[in-house]
Amino acid sequence: MKIHEYQAKELFRKYKVPTPEGGVSDSVAGIKDIAVGLGLPVAVKAQIHAGGRGKGGGVKLARTDDEVSAAADAILGMTLVTKQTGPEGRVVRKVLVEKGVGIQKELYLSIIPDRETACITIVASQDGGMDIEDVAAKSPERIIKVPVNPVTGIQGYHLRQVMFGIELEKPLMKEFSAVLKNLYNLFVDYDCSMVEINPLIVTDDNRVVALDAKMDIDSNALFRHPDVKEMHDPNEDDPTEMEAAKYGLNYINLDGNVGNMVNGAGLAMATMDIIKQAGAEPANFLDVGGGADAEMVENGFRLILSDSKVKGILINIFGGILRCDVLAQGVVQAAKKIGLSLPVVVRMEGTNVEEGRRILADSGLELINAIDLADAAKKVAGIVA
Ligand code: GDP
Ligand code: MN
Repeated sequence: MKIHEYQAKELFRKYKVPTPEGGVSDSVAGIKDIAVGLGLPVAVKAQIHAGGRGKGGGVKLARTDDEVSAAADAILGMTLVTKQTGPEGRVVRKVLVEKGVGIQKELYLSIIPDRETACITIVASQDGGMDIEDVAAKSPERIIKVPVNPVTGIQGYHLRQVMFGIELEKPLMKEFSAVLKNLYNLFVDYDCSMVEINPLIVTDDNRVVALDAKMDIDSNALFRHPDVKEMHDPNEDDPTEMEAAKYGLNYINLDGNVGNMVNGAGLAMATMDIIKQAGAEPANFLDVGGGADAEMVENGFRLILSDSKVKGILINIFGGILRCDVLAQGVVQAAKKIGLSLPVVVRMEGTNVEEGRRILADSGLELINAIDLADAAKKVAGIVA
């Protein structure tokens, strides 16, 4: 689960990672009040769960009262479109106002788990700021990665490797070390899947301060962090994913146009792989679960059909606990209720498969039968091509 910048900064402060002083508000009057309290200049920052706000007009520096008003009017309620929001953008409902700080240098610092090395990896660069993606593309050697074995935890040599790697000046090392160590502890304590500070700045008066903050917390660990659970902002949820959660379905919205419904997460992953291998792109991940019933299948179907990107559907079921005849009934029931408007390729195997095929064949629906998974992927890729 992602949280907002202002919420991440609350946790930063708890862990002694320095941030600018500030306050959050959802009204123009509130924003002005905070600015008065802080003193000018201030930074006015849109709070949405996506980066690239600066370039999208969601971060403004205000030096006068008029500029505060103008920034508040412009940002609050705007639909902010950034590289990370997609073309539909996000409505800004909350604004963070922070005391403006003089920037000497912008650094980049993040911590992520790396599956390949099974380590917690520190990523850092001396070229932080709004163009970090360009740095990654054009001069990747300016971004360093230091793996930390989670068993031993962060050690002095990790800190030095990072600091020498980004050519940090000696007088800043003590402070930077503390920031990195504290951030690492925050990352571990809160079961994070990502913590990012971009930019981590060196101020005019040589302090190290987190000007931005991004945190993603493993949703499976939220029961251990009631304080973070409370930070959940339903406005930032994907509406289709929320609908899926209501039905108890495991659904993730993706960019492609092949809708797919699968029983079992592993089989769903394999199905997405094979769709890609056939030259198409999955529109979603949908695991209806090993013990799904006809109603769940129907709900899954409804979800997929509500996604306007979808041009063709692949149903891939290995009937174990979910028997093929039950699935077939669900498919027929849903298709008839909703009015099936898209081609559906079905690959079915397992318990009661003969009965399942008979139900589909007798349904009068136009379903495309596949002999195996490769055949199914090829057929659905052909349809959406
Ligand atoms: P992002 O674009 O969503 O990553 O938002 P950031 O919080 O990183 O802000 C974008 C940029 O605004 C930063 O890279 C800074 O250059 C600038 N910025 C933000 N706050 C301040 C501030 O208090 N003072 C100054 N001078 N610049 C700021
Ligand atoms: Mn940033």
